[in-house]
Amino acid sequence: MNRNEQLFAAAQQHIPGGVNSPVRAFGSVGGTPRFFKKGEGAYVWDADGKKYIDYVGSWGPLILGHAHPAVIEAVTRTAQNGMSFGAPTEGEVEIADLLCQMLPSMQQVRLVSSGTEATMSAIRLARGFTGRDKLVKFEGCYHGHADSLLVKAGSGLLTFGNPSSAGVPAAVAADTIVLPYNDVAALETLFAEQGDKIAALIVEPIAGNMNLVQPSKAFVAAMRKLTQDHGAVLIYDEVMTGFRVGLQCSQGLHGITPDLTCLGKVVGGGLPLAAFGGRADIMGKLAPLGPVYQAGTLSGNPLAVAAGMATLQEISKPGFFEALTAKTKAFADGLNAIGAQFPSDKTISAQAVGGMFGIYCSPSIPHSYNDVMNSDRARFNAFFHAMLEEGVYLAPSAFEAGFVSAAHDDIDIQYTLHATQRVLQNL
Ligand SMILES: *Cc1c(COP(=O)(O)O)cnc(C)c1O
Repeated sequence: MNRNEQLFAAAQQHIPGGVNSPVRAFGSVGGTPRFFKKGEGAYVWDADGKKYIDYVGSWGPLILGHAHPAVIEAVTRTAQNGMSFGAPTEGEVEIADLLCQMLPSMQQVRLVSSGTEATMSAIRLARGFTGRDKLVKFEGCYHGHADSLLVKAGSGLLTFGNPSSAGVPAAVAADTIVLPYNDVAALETLFAEQGDKIAALIVEPIAGNMNLVQPSKAFVAAMRKLTQDHGAVLIYDEVMTGFRVGLQCSQGLHGITPDLTCLGKVVGGGLPLAAFGGRADIMGKLAPLGPVYQAGTLSGNPLAVAAGMATLQEISKPGFFEALTAKTKAFADGLNAIGAQFPSDKTISAQAVGGMFGIYCSPSIPHSYNDVMNSDRARFNAFFHAMLEEGVYLAPSAFEAGFVSAAHDDIDIQYTLHATQRVLQNL
């Protein structure tokens, strides 16, 4: 057994499945998960010392790459003055001001520690604000693991081919309505029939948990108009896309002002920080001002805030997003050029938005959960393992988007493209 295998065997003794989040177990692609011992820039090293170019980036947060000096400096400096107070700190004021400056839709914001907390809290707030119970979400979108959202959720669950979780009360799930992504007619029908019962519509405005799926313009416009017309709260779950697809997130790209926005991943720069915020009249319903309860011992943790601030400052530098977007697009273009050399049952396709990309084992770009389900999963698994052998670490599932960081350089991208060519030739 190599070191990864030894560690995975040992991990299963006292950790269910050997992992603290299911998709890490390589259940969908098979084989032994890599245990990492070091990350630097675009690279990670596993327990056996093998080096990989990392396109997962801790599932999105590491937009600057691993161990960025500015983030490390901010976190170490802050740690010297204490880890946590459970009382307000100046850093929280600074990051709240910055977030509200960066996102015009955000008048007020509250910090939490995970994306799951952000979406769960935003939904409770929307229900408290509207006095309604029904929630609308879309097939293939993942919004964390709160009960009311584990209704045909995507990501890890898709990977296990299990449309919902045990342990979620039927009564809770009954208030969640799941519609197909990009289906304007279904949305119109639903709002016509039940619009006055709907508290909130939550969406991944660019979906990244059923691989990368882009919304149509008509879908984006319909979500905004229908929620507005019926007095429902539009929640943009930008936990993945926030500061990943652009400085103003998906909402900036779409020209949409959502009522509430959820942030996570990049906003914490690799530490547990997330946030939800938006219209002041809605946020004013939160305790201690209003009747909607929400709290957290470690909310606004000083180290997480410091990592987040340092990350947001780096990505706000002139040219940062232009460079990241161009590099990620060049990568996707390169993948498509390689894909064009292969017959449709042996090919790949790709697309990029900002620093996020999708690679599909299918000849065309998917527009829905069904399209993604129809991609060749067995071929993806073979592709994934062959790339791993080549020293390229992609997400271990056909249903996950990938991420390029500022630390990836042209040589890394060229190497990855050459590896892709070799792998497709040999598959
Ligand atoms: C990752 C993710 C979440 C959940 O965030 P956690 O920090 O893992 O709880 C919610 N929504 C979206 C869109 C995500 O990508």
